[in-house]
Amino acid sequence: MVSRVIPVDTFDLVIFGGTGDLARRKILPGLFRRFLSGQMTAESRIIGAARSDMDDGGYRQMIREAIAEFGGAEKSDTTGLDAFIDRLHYVPIDATGDGGWKALSDLMRADVVRAFYFSVAPSLFGALAERLHLHGIADAHSRIVVEKPFGRDLASARALNETLAAYFKEGQIYRIDHYLGKETVQNLMAVRFGNVLFEPLWNNHYVDHIQITVAETVGVGGRGSYYDKSGAMRDMVQNHLMQLLCLIAMEPPSRFEADAVRDEKLKVIRALQPIAAHHIVRGQYDAEGDDPSYRADAENPRSFTESFIAMKCEIANWRWAGVPFYLRTGKKMKARSSEIAVVFQDLGHTIFEGDVARHRNILSIRLQPNEGIDLQVTIKEPGPGGMRLVDVPLDLTFADALGEDGEDVPDAYERLIMDVIRGNQTLFMRGDEVEAAWSWTDPLIEGWEARSDVPKLYEPGSSGPEDALMLMHRDGRRWREIKA
Ligand code: NAD
Repeated sequence: MVSRVIPVDTFDLVIFGGTGDLARRKILPGLFRRFLSGQMTAESRIIGAARSDMDDGGYRQMIREAIAEFGGAEKSDTTGLDAFIDRLHYVPIDATGDGGWKALSDLMRADVVRAFYFSVAPSLFGALAERLHLHGIADAHSRIVVEKPFGRDLASARALNETLAAYFKEGQIYRIDHYLGKETVQNLMAVRFGNVLFEPLWNNHYVDHIQITVAETVGVGGRGSYYDKSGAMRDMVQNHLMQLLCLIAMEPPSRFEADAVRDEKLKVIRALQPIAAHHIVRGQYDAEGDDPSYRADAENPRSFTESFIAMKCEIANWRWAGVPFYLRTGKKMKARSSEIAVVFQDLGHTIFEGDVARHRNILSIRLQPNEGIDLQVTIKEPGPGGMRLVDVPLDLTFADALGEDGEDVPDAYERLIMDVIRGNQTLFMRGDEVEAAWSWTDPLIEGWEARSDVPKLYEPGSSGPEDALMLMHRDGRRWREIKA
């Protein structure tokens, strides 16, 4: 089956921070793929705007090199690449001063979608919003895209929301969380709400528990001193893991439409219970051989910041009462692997004599690597010799049936930027969601900080501290293996 690509409206996309790491590694290579697919119209333009002094030619060369380094197989299409590079412009700009704003204003076209990607430090968001407004560059139909981190606590997130709200309506603000742009995350909604099979089982009568794991193999390396002010809770849980939890746990929205979906996600966050201290395990990776410890990477020998966290959460509502949600995320884990697993309850009774193994249905949604969804089902082991049961995965991604070879599937950033141009906010966080998430995490973080809570050390390349295993063992459950 050939996937259908519907071109978006012609746009001028300004990337503030267009020379930065994120722009070069993700945003521009992603836009190039959308250009090749025909989704980005040939008349659309991308305007890099950053501090460095250079002209269009210099920027085009920089992005050519970025695509050569970070692009995929598509970069061999040199004709396509030349045509894409022609769509690039550059304006040197000072976010906090007056330099460059007139030139940017002169460059913008009146009759196309205007979008502004704030790929800069959050401390510049306010200055950018204000100047876009002052120089008349943004109008009531323009959109802005803001990167994480969106605040570091409730107070700073609220202040950021207020700053942006002074110049833009909520309907113009796209707070990006690239986890929501992943194909399988959206497929999760298709599986849940597009089939009769799953939704009747999606509750505390049939689900035993849910696990969400986001494991990385890298340490904090070169950005250790930045990370040390944040930690796994702020960097991963408050945004990515909570967003995944919301999609899994939310009630069916009445329509697949931005505010209907976001209203339901918000209700989940508000129903999250405060977590008891013994339901959270914080960890820091230790040194191993020549590899430095977390504290060495963070250049802070007395750091209490966590590079790993595991927690048991409860959602106090009719659907989920009594069903634990176990979340964990960490650096320097044994494999790079992100997965949501819905573990269904045991059968009440087995008719198969001698079958002592515990067979369970598990719906597993893999975000990386190898995005996909499978359902573990129990069948008879083939061959003679009686009724022996075996668990096998039923692949629900049906890659073969859909004929997708993976090349055509846009990555999260590409998809989300195209949603911005289309004006579809469904997969972006609303201001009140972000604030509600901080309201839940703030008391936990404040508690650790107040009592100087010391994270447990864990071996690099492991599954985290021993206590994290105990968190589930105490409940008679086990984490799923972290495997690539
Ligand atoms: P970076 O340091 O590589 O680039 C920063 C960019 O901002 C540069 O283009 C620089 O010229 C520009 N800039 C800085 N000060 C400016 C000023 N006063 N006026 C105009 N331009 C100015 O940063 P990055 O890694 O690309 O990250 C950008 C944003 O995205 C940050 O908020 C970061 O937290 C967020 N983010 C980055 C990643 C990533 O993978 N790099 C992932 C998620 C979120």
